[in-house]
Amino acid sequence: SDRLAGKRTLVTAAGQGIGRATAIGFAEAGAEVIATDVAPEQLEDLAALGVARCVALDVTDTAETYAVAEDLGAIDVLCNCAGYVHRGTVLDCDEITWDYCFDLNVKSMHRTIRAFLPAMLGQEGGSIINMSSGTSSIRGTPARYVYGATKAAVIGLTKAIAADFVKDGIRCNAICPGIVRTPSLEGRVAELAVELGASIEDAWAHVLDSQPSGRVADPEEIADLAIYLASDESAFVTGTEIVIDGGWVL
Ligand code: NAD
Repeated sequence: SDRLAGKRTLVTAAGQGIGRATAIGFAEAGAEVIATDVAPEQLEDLAALGVARCVALDVTDTAETYAVAEDLGAIDVLCNCAGYVHRGTVLDCDEITWDYCFDLNVKSMHRTIRAFLPAMLGQEGGSIINMSSGTSSIRGTPARYVYGATKAAVIGLTKAIAADFVKDGIRCNAICPGIVRTPSLEGRVAELAVELGASIEDAWAHVLDSQPSGRVADPEEIADLAIYLASDESAFVTGTEIVIDGGWVL
């Protein structure tokens, strides 16, 4: 399709999961896609799937973020997907863990937006899409203390950017997924199996039991929402947090 024809887009953490599905989805929708990840070897096969360029980018590295932005020049769409799920309560979260999670999940977005927004402002406008979560200001999820705090911060950051630049044609929205079948989710389910002393199959049953829809999302379903937010179809949508969770936060 051509929903994103003429759009120059950049996706962080495009190596796997939601970021990867988004990079592929953007390309299928006709965009020029720059796929980035801290682990660039994970991007190698994306060229065959229509992605224009693969670039190593560690979003916790300020100098690297600015260097990539300077090299690329103006983009129309910035999709911030990088994020890490720490498991535990406040008692499991020392200050090093707190700082690490806020750096990777929140300050990374501050970095990429500071780096890419100036060139975006120099053109007709742009769309910034930030990956938050249902686990945020929307929902308290057990054993997701600092993760929820970071994803709530993402929503605040998103609204602040939207308010400051609405007159400049810049839109900024947050996507709040429920549970999505990604490589890191497979890892968390394996951890849960160990914790419950159960099989992987039983751990999956436990996860699905918590889901009113009886299933988790496929990353492509989140990518479809990102395509909408990247496209001009969502021209009047800014500053929102859009929940996509099969009814989990209800
Ligand atoms: P994932 O956790 O499976 O993969 C993460 C990717 O991020 C990897 O390719 C990794 O190399 C990359 N990465 C890690 N550190 C990086 C860094 N410093 N710089 C650049 N890239 C880095 O992916 P996922 O589960 O699809 O999660 C993507 C985003 O969606 C995250 O922000 C996550 O919090 C959010 N999210 C996921 C779910 C879920 O159930 N999977 C639910 C809600 C929100």
